[in-house]
Amino acid sequence: MLKVEHIGIAVKSLSVSIPLFEKLLNTPCYKTEAVASEGVSTAFFRQGDTKIELLEAARDDSPIAKFIAGKGEGMHHIAFEVQDIRAEMQRLRQEGFTLLQEEPKEGADNKLVCFLHPKSTNGILVELTQERV
Ligand code: ZN
Repeated sequence: MLKVEHIGIAVKSLSVSIPLFEKLLNTPCYKTEAVASEGVSTAFFRQGDTKIELLEAARDDSPIAKFIAGKGEGMHHIAFEVQDIRAEMQRLRQEGFTLLQEEPKEGADNKLVCFLHPKSTNGILVELTQERV
């Protein structure tokens, strides 16, 4: 894995949390993007070499709505950038991790992504991301 690409934070409302994080990080939100397939709206902040991604549920059955209903707002996932997502998925499968996708899917921010089940990673939802070229 190359680096922590971003940290995902589940929020109830982007319109409340974007100005909050702009103040906290002292940097403007540079992009908002809806990911229809996931039922989420996202907002991104650059922080040095990595990013913060805020996630708001766009529908009641979105994974973010379920997460907030169960745990409240807060840290949702860590995303690691990888060079070759298929090779990394294969490696992690062989190491016994549970992947939530068989194939990489399209994520926010022009990425291919795959998630690992938190049950196999000490309760942390891990996202693999590869830049789409
Ligand atoms: Zn993410």
